[in-house]
Amino acid sequence: MGATETAEPMVSVRKPYRLVSRDFHPENSVVRVGNIAFGENRVIVMSGPCAVESREQVMAAAEFMHHLGVPVLRGGAYKPRTSPYSFQGMGVEGLKLLAEARERYGVLVVTEAVDHESLAHVAEWADIVQIGARNMQNFELLKAVGQVGKPVLLKRGLAATIDEWLMAAEYVAAHGNPNIILCERGIRTYETKTRNTLDISAIPVVKQLSHLPVVIDPSHAAGQWQWVAPLARAAVAAGADGLIIETHPNPAEALSDGPQSLNFPHLEELMQEVKRVARAVGREI
Ligand code: PEP
Ligand code: MN
Repeated sequence: MGATETAEPMVSVRKPYRLVSRDFHPENSVVRVGNIAFGENRVIVMSGPCAVESREQVMAAAEFMHHLGVPVLRGGAYKPRTSPYSFQGMGVEGLKLLAEARERYGVLVVTEAVDHESLAHVAEWADIVQIGARNMQNFELLKAVGQVGKPVLLKRGLAATIDEWLMAAEYVAAHGNPNIILCERGIRTYETKTRNTLDISAIPVVKQLSHLPVVIDPSHAAGQWQWVAPLARAAVAAGADGLIIETHPNPAEALSDGPQSLNFPHLEELMQEVKRVARAVGREI
């Protein structure tokens, strides 16, 4: 046998993540926020506008979520926009509107932090800190998220492999925050009809590799509101622990992501559909 033909690899390959792996924690982890829990039998729905635009808009959305029994209101106060000329968000003023909506309608709030400065504000005002696809590998930001005392919704990067996504989660866990909810929101492929390609297989694959809850964002995957409900149904059927869906009181006038935003009647219809799917797979919504 020559020197290069050894039966064992010269260096043992170490797993790139440990704390978030199923080996480390064989049971599903449950991330509790207020009176809800991600990773138990109930599929948690989060919905609201892409961006916080005004008091009227946020209150209308929050009131409708309350009416439908959607427990978490989404809405970005800091928006990472592809064009520097697009609406960049209302900042702290937007966070205060979300907090006001929580007081009035009893919904929990998830909203995105884009850097260290916004993270401090988001951690103060929101219930769940969202880290967006574009920041999934902002390692300094991930370290800082590890130190906030709020659960994090960690979106998968546009071109991130599942291992890279889990290593991003490992950063957060290794820096002290075990309350991580993973969010698949579509990845970039050669297909251009949809905005991104929803990787439904990420649900069973991540659930095998990791104990963390996995939620699906069909809105940023589809890019068109008509395709959001079918993807949401597929996600629930495949075992997602939650959904995050963009809804706007008047999508035609939305300052961001209008084409993929549902109006209120469409969200109501989607809720009825996903409830039926959830029942069929032994879950509730
Ligand atoms: C969003 O949730 O509005 C958003 C910007 O999402 P993503 O980071 O997945 O593009
Ligand atoms: Mn959006």
